[in-house]
Amino acid sequence: MSIILGIESTAHTFGIGIVCDGKIIANKMDMYTTESGGIIPLDSAKHHREVSERVYKEALEEAKINEKEIDAIAFSQGPGLSPCLLEGIKFSKKLSKKLKKSLVPVNHCVAHLEIARVTGALDPVLLYCSGANTQVISYASGKYRIFGETLDTGVGNFIDNFARCAGIGFPGGPKIETLAKKGKNYIELPYTVKGMDVSFSGILTNLKQKVEKGNYSIEDLSFSMQETVFAMLVETSERALAHVGKNELVLGGGVACNSRLQEMARLMCEERGAKFFCPEKPLLVDNGAMIAYAGEIMFNSGIKFSGKKAEELDIKPRQRTDEVEVRWK
Ligand code: AMP
Ligand code: MG
Repeated sequence: MSIILGIESTAHTFGIGIVCDGKIIANKMDMYTTESGGIIPLDSAKHHREVSERVYKEALEEAKINEKEIDAIAFSQGPGLSPCLLEGIKFSKKLSKKLKKSLVPVNHCVAHLEIARVTGALDPVLLYCSGANTQVISYASGKYRIFGETLDTGVGNFIDNFARCAGIGFPGGPKIETLAKKGKNYIELPYTVKGMDVSFSGILTNLKQKVEKGNYSIEDLSFSMQETVFAMLVETSERALAHVGKNELVLGGGVACNSRLQEMARLMCEERGAKFFCPEKPLLVDNGAMIAYAGEIMFNSGIKFSGKKAEELDIKPRQRTDEVEVRWK
């Protein structure tokens, strides 16, 4: 039996999850939010510093374990915002020293893919739609590969940016979803799929101009934005499924909480006879449980750092999914 603690701190959320033999026994988190404006990395890092001890205690309570029972500490090594990642690694190293347990560095995007196993998916393609990241990922020929991705911002940041210019604070996505449900008229927007990649900056400029002109309602713009952008994401996911010959799609990332995106992805899967999976919200957003879950798989394959090696571990703010050296598959 092994008990692995996972620490997530890549952006706005500080989360701690605990996994015991593939079973999630705790998943606690605290998210940095703002009234207006986006994430200020140093503020978010300060948030993580302030909530870390409390979230840690809550996770231990939820798991009903004593900290001495922890076998290893997994943490999000990247990609993410440096000041936020630094808080996570600092906390992890402190704990590793105190408990005399090894560290397991986890790639955040890979964790979003691996946690899909709890939904029953065996070898899926992941449509990962979060704030800073937008990628279509799958494991193929010995590596986690990116089949398509954004050429500029992540879809969540794009939606938050659109929300901000309509006077809505962070995170804007949930409020935009509510507004979109009231929209009735489809307003044509640029549809930017380039090969297997997507791009949002042109659509954002176009939307901003429309908001400034004031001749469209924010409800109709929100509705049209969702229809356009989600169609782009579902299109590239479908082509990735066809390309790698897989028949399971799973969603990940905060934007995947959106019920319209879920509906469109589900419909696409039904039409091509593929299986559709969507983890529950606490496992869809940034969370510590997925870090613990992926960390346990890595730990069991012998990936662990202790002593001087643990001390020397560093964050990887720009680590790419396909750079991850896979020794556990
Ligand atoms: P993550 O970085 O994966 O935790 O996701 C955070 C992003 O998800 C933020 O940009 C949010 O605005 C976005 N988000 C959260 N809920 C929704 C929703 N219901 N619809 C669209 N975007 C959402
Ligand atoms: Mg994420």
